[in-house]
Amino acid sequence: MATEIKTLIQGYKQFRQKYFEEKKQVFKDLTLHGQKPKILVVACSDSRVDPAIVTNCKPGDLFVIRNVANIIPPFEKDNGYHGTSAALEFGVCNLKIKHIIIFGHTQCGGIISLVKDNSLKGSCQKHQQNSFIAKWMELAKPAYDAALCEAPDLPTEKLSELCGQYSLINSLKNLQTFPWVSQKIASGKLSLHAWNFDLPTGTIKVYSEEQQHFTELNDYY
Ligand SMILES: [Zn+2]
Repeated sequence: MATEIKTLIQGYKQFRQKYFEEKKQVFKDLTLHGQKPKILVVACSDSRVDPAIVTNCKPGDLFVIRNVANIIPPFEKDNGYHGTSAALEFGVCNLKIKHIIIFGHTQCGGIISLVKDNSLKGSCQKHQQNSFIAKWMELAKPAYDAALCEAPDLPTEKLSELCGQYSLINSLKNLQTFPWVSQKIASGKLSLHAWNFDLPTGTIKVYSEEQQHFTELNDYY
């Protein structure tokens, strides 16, 4: 058997012996009464950034949507297949969650590919027309434009970090195009948050809409 799978099976055994044993009641309650999370997190698919691990949450605490670069698309009624919007609808309308956290991170591959693709445009490099990633990342193009406008001379790595921050703000805007999101915000039933996880330091910064900049999580709330 492949070593990677063996590692998972070993982990599963440990989960059964320790985690499941210790949290038996949690699983029992969740089975009997269903899930009632109060927080929806939109995180990246990146293997290094698991919102439940970073926030030490247990099963039932977080309703999590993961996609490339933790992007929220705008509200669109075009008969397409909208996985992220479907999960968002379930969280907001069915589970009636109270907070949405868009959970970004540094060194995001999706954001870096957006920045590289756009900086290559105009040169003889071929844009990946048929890439699902390139198409998906078009949603964050306003973030790239804003980052480039603010700091046109930054190297790719730094520009990507800035673009990642603007992408969170872009997703906050897109979130509010969903009628049931904006209605719940207006009636005080839902709050939006944008968090950015820094991989090398393991710290989180929060976007303050009032001050229009990112500040340490511990100092914000
Ligand atoms: Zn990412």
